[in-house]
Amino acid sequence: VTTDDPVPSDRSRVRRKADRGRYDRATIDAILDEAVICHVGVVHDGTPVVLPTVHARVDDVLYLHGAAGNQLLRDASGPADVCVAVTLVDGVVFARTAFHHSINYRSAVLFGRASLVQDDGEKRHALDALVEHVACGRAADARPPTAAELRATAVVRFPIHEASAKIRTGGPIDDVEDLTLPVWSGVVPLRTVASEPITDDNGVPGLSPPAYARNYTRP
Ligand SMILES: Cc1cc2nc3c(=O)[nH]c(=O)nc-3n(C[C@H](O)[C@H](O)[C@H](O)COP(=O)(O)OP(=O)(O)OC[C@H]3O[C@@H](n4cnc5c(N)ncnc54)[C@H](O)[C@@H]3O)c2cc1C
Repeated sequence: VTTDDPVPSDRSRVRRKADRGRYDRATIDAILDEAVICHVGVVHDGTPVVLPTVHARVDDVLYLHGAAGNQLLRDASGPADVCVAVTLVDGVVFARTAFHHSINYRSAVLFGRASLVQDDGEKRHALDALVEHVACGRAADARPPTAAELRATAVVRFPIHEASAKIRTGGPIDDVEDLTLPVWSGVVPLRTVASEPITDDNGVPGLSPPAYARNYTRP
């Protein structure tokens, strides 16, 4: 834990299975960077709305983007707090009893206020980061946004300072009296695996997929 690590606030402190809670930025950042998408929770007209979207972390800031008229981003950059959740599923845990089935995971939950990015330079930097988040190396290859595309895009900046991670690893935790049940038990690990790239044949013929597409992995 460094001085930059978020100190758990009352609402970000993991209470249930508190030993699975982490607050150091290295753990939280690694989860944010590996996950392709997050879920953003806002309250719209008194109704909670949680929507999936792509994010990108640049140092202490999480950027979100969407159409200029995007309601979620409008709500997120308003005066109310926002909650962002990021989830990585690492395995399915089969216990001998229905009760003790579980999931191995790494997840992060962030609270805070977000704001609309007004500065075009920061906007371009954030949009580059979003492309790089999806595929490291892609921003240098793709045509940058035009001025019109930039105007059509809203970018939201969400400072990371109130955050928690929660991590479950390992096998099933059955009660001792259930260990003699003749039921298979264990873990099926899960991971994100990319398949072969499928070239779009509408464009210039003969282009090969770049390395970041051929060997697509998450950091
Ligand atoms: C893939 C996956 C599947 C899950 N399935 C279940 C399930 O089926 N049933 C179930 O009860 N729980 C499940 N959980 C755990 C769930 O996310 C909660 O941690 C748990 O339900 C406890 O809720 P609570 O409101 O009592 O948490 P509390 O401990 O009271 O939460 C307090 C604060 O701790 C932090 N926190 C809590 N959970 C998380 C988290 N997962 N990641 C990061 N920070 C967190 C937040 O800041 C939260 O505001 C799952 C988690 C993941 C990632």
